[in-house]
This record gives sequence, structure tokens and C-alpha cells, in this order.
Amino acid sequence: MPKDIIIAIDGYSACGKSTTARLLAEKLEYVFIDTGAMYRAVTLYFLQNGINFNRHEEVTAGLQHVHIHFEYNKETKRPDTYLNNKCVEDEIRSLTISECVSEVSAIPAVRRNMVAQQQLMGKNKRVVMDGRDIGTHVFPDAELKIFMTADLEVRVQRRVLELQKKRYTDIDASEIRQNLLHRDYVDSHRTDSPLIKADDAIELDTTYYTIPEQVEIVYQWAMERIQGTINGQH
Ligand code: C5P
Repeated sequence: MPKDIIIAIDGYSACGKSTTARLLAEKLEYVFIDTGAMYRAVTLYFLQNGINFNRHEEVTAGLQHVHIHFEYNKETKRPDTYLNNKCVEDEIRSLTISECVSEVSAIPAVRRNMVAQQQLMGKNKRVVMDGRDIGTHVFPDAELKIFMTADLEVRVQRRVLELQKKRYTDIDASEIRQNLLHRDYVDSHRTDSPLIKADDAIELDTTYYTIPEQVEIVYQWAMERIQGTINGQH
């Protein structure tokens, strides 16, 4: 008897987590949740409303006004992120947001708020969720946990291509490299649920894989758990 599972995909910035998670969810007919987009939307709200990240009262009051949801976009065949009913999918991918998002994500009140929403979204299972703390904090009992890595230069090139596709101009590879290194550092060193590989996560180095190849690998791992041929993580 096939069972419904939760798939947690964590790892460093720009390793292909969201792309893999989205395509895997499509293949499995599961819901895909990009938790990074949620932290990016909060960051956009704080910047737009002049909220000082260091002031606890401002942050907690601001969070009350942040409503995030996703809507499937038939043209792009991807979910778009909405902040207070406005589509912010392009805005949240800008370098301005990437430069502040790790500081915002390190704030415990922000994490508590986001994690509670993510746990609700996955309460009926059948989700593929990608982020930094999904297998360690959001769903520590997820049936399949994957920790993705990739060579830094490959990650920079992938991010450059992604921004080009979104028609961003003024793309500077060295600025992107700095940003990835900065985010990986802050994400891995914060006190509240830092980015760390869960003991029972399977590591997947995507440096030499194409997207279809990495999707196929994780699909096989998922099917083994759904069909019950593997119960544990390995
Ligand atoms: O996945 P993405 O690169 O869009 O995530 C943006 C940022 O959001 C990360 O660098 C990290 O600071 C934060 N994040 C997080 N926890 C998650 C997902 C993302 O702290 N579960």
C-alpha cells in the first residue's frame, strides 16, 4: 500500500533545491513549497515598510501584517509568491533582497512565524518542501531528507543564468559569488535552527548532474519510501 510522505530538501544557496523540489513534486503530484520565497517575502515587507530588523517590537508588529500565499502560474508552470495579495515573485529574487534575507531569517520571531505556517502546509503530508531547516526543525520526522551541495562556481553560474532568464540586467558574477558565500555563512552560523545536514539526510552533490538527472535520482529515493520498500533514510 503506497503511503503519503514528506520530502525535505535542504542545502546551500543555489544548489538547485527549488528546481529539483518543484519538478519532483510535479512528478509525484505533491505540493511544492519554496520556504526561501517566504523568508524573501518577509524581507521585502520589512524593507518596504522601513522596519528596523534589530528592533524586536517593530519586527513582531510587522509580522502581523505579513500574509504570504502561493498561486500556480499557468504560463510559467510554477507557483508565484504573493505578499498581501500582490504577486512579488520577481521582486523577491532581486539582489537587494538576497543581500538582507539571511539577516531577517536569523531573527527567532520571524522563524517561529514561518515554521508554524510551513508545518500547517505539510500537515497532510504529500509535500516537497525546500529550505535550510526543513529536515532538522520543520519536519524532523520527514520520511525522506535530502541535503544538497554543489561546487561554488557551478552555483554562481546557475544563479547568473537564472537571473538572465528573469531578464535582470547588470548581473555581476563576483557580486553573486560574494552573496552566496555570505548567505551560506550567516545561514550556517545563526543560533536559531542553523543550516546543518540532518544526521539522517542523504547528501546529494549536484555539481555534475543535469536537472533531469538529479530529479530522477530523488524520484527513485521518493518512490522507494512511498512504496514502502525502504523504511529508514538510507
Ligand atoms: O532558498 P533561497 O535561497 O531563496 O532562500 C533565501 C534565504 O532564506 C536563505 O539564504 C536563508 O537565509 C533563508 N531561509 C531560511 N530557512 C529556510 C529557507 C530559507 O533561513 N527554510
